[in-house]
Amino acid sequence: MAIIVQKYGGSSVADLEKIRRVARKVIARKRQGHELVVVVSAMGRTTDELLDMARELSPEPSRRELDMLLSVGERISMALLSMAIHQEGYEAISLTGSQCGIITTDSHSNARIMDVRPFRVQDELRRGHIVIVAGYQGTSYKREVTTLGRGGSDTTAVALAAALSAQACEIYSDVDGVYSADPRVVVDAKQLAELSYEEMIEMARGGASVLNEQAVAFARDARISLYARSTHMEGSKGTIVRPDGFDERAARAERGLPHMAVSHARDVMVVRAAGEAADAVVERLEEHSPIAFAWEPGASARVLLNAALLAGPDALASELEGMGASVVRSAAISLIGHGVGAVPRWAREAQSVLTREGVVSSAPFCSSARLTWVIPQEDLDRVANVLHGEFVFDA
Ligand code: ADP
Ligand code: ASP
Ligand code: MG
Repeated sequence: MAIIVQKYGGSSVADLEKIRRVARKVIARKRQGHELVVVVSAMGRTTDELLDMARELSPEPSRRELDMLLSVGERISMALLSMAIHQEGYEAISLTGSQCGIITTDSHSNARIMDVRPFRVQDELRRGHIVIVAGYQGTSYKREVTTLGRGGSDTTAVALAAALSAQACEIYSDVDGVYSADPRVVVDAKQLAELSYEEMIEMARGGASVLNEQAVAFARDARISLYARSTHMEGSKGTIVRPDGFDERAARAERGLPHMAVSHARDVMVVRAAGEAADAVVERLEEHSPIAFAWEPGASARVLLNAALLAGPDALASELEGMGASVVRSAAISLIGHGVGAVPRWAREAQSVLTREGVVSSAPFCSSARLTWVIPQEDLDRVANVLHGEFVFDA
């Protein structure tokens, strides 16, 4: 029997009625003859609420204790979903990240998965149980509870799918797939039927939270197909991210046009440092995946961090300031597409659009598949719509 791993995000399990609906959806899939592992996020804004409580007590809470606290959010939803499935007459069991054998580094609040030993999950599947897993957490090799960074439940799902040789990994959220830009911001954003791992990684790094960057990188390395779908909206096919390419991209590549998308990050920490502080800052930020960075050893560093992915952005900012860096909050906008940064044409054309629109931007950060600019937060929505209009379909 094929194993399917599903993941339901926070908005999909935000209240008891939604949890009931997820339970019915899970059971319907089980009835199609699959073995099911279901990863859940914390209900609604639970993680943010837990963080707010911690910060009310202490501006810089211990990262170990923070992980103890935050991991509880996912435990609540896993137990409730399991109960809802029981209520429908099916067998389910909930397991924490540690019970699923998810072994991580010891970097609290930003741990990386090093190994997955899913024996307990396999035993329960053999017994015919639906296995419900608390996302976003693991246990370090020092036997401490760890969390994987904001949005980390996607990574739990992909890591388990890889360890279980699952047939597919389905990521369900409040949007029916990956769009050419955030559909909540760009009115003309279009659903993408398919995109490559690299494009998705660049979109996520640029700020698209629909699929977590590390999860996609994990899927690429394990050659797992990812399906991004809507939890509560029926009838949409969603988006596939899988190993082989697809025709539209090939057709555009033949005409010398990248297949483009726009990503944004609304709250970005722009970290700047000079002299020795530059090297110290780069070393301190080693465990993070910045949106972009530029570094001249011993001379200067500029690093853009997506604050939405940090458990404690303010605490990190004060620490960096204590090391001699300056930190300001701004927004970032990116154009994504294979080869978009490989030739100067797209950077030059996009820069002239920003100038025409009167936007005060940084110089572009260029990588082969992404161009990123720091822009003022108040210009973000307008710039996202303008760049999408100019480059995504008309290029
Ligand atoms: P979940 O809580 O289910 O993990 P997230 O909030 O992390 O869901 O991700 C879904 C959100 O991602 C959507 O509500 C949407 O606003 C946002 N998003 C950003 N960029 C994109 C994009 N390119 N395509 C689709 N959704 C996007
Ligand atoms: N609950 C965690 C968060 O809010 C993890 C996740 O949702 O994937 O970041
Ligand atoms: Mg998410």
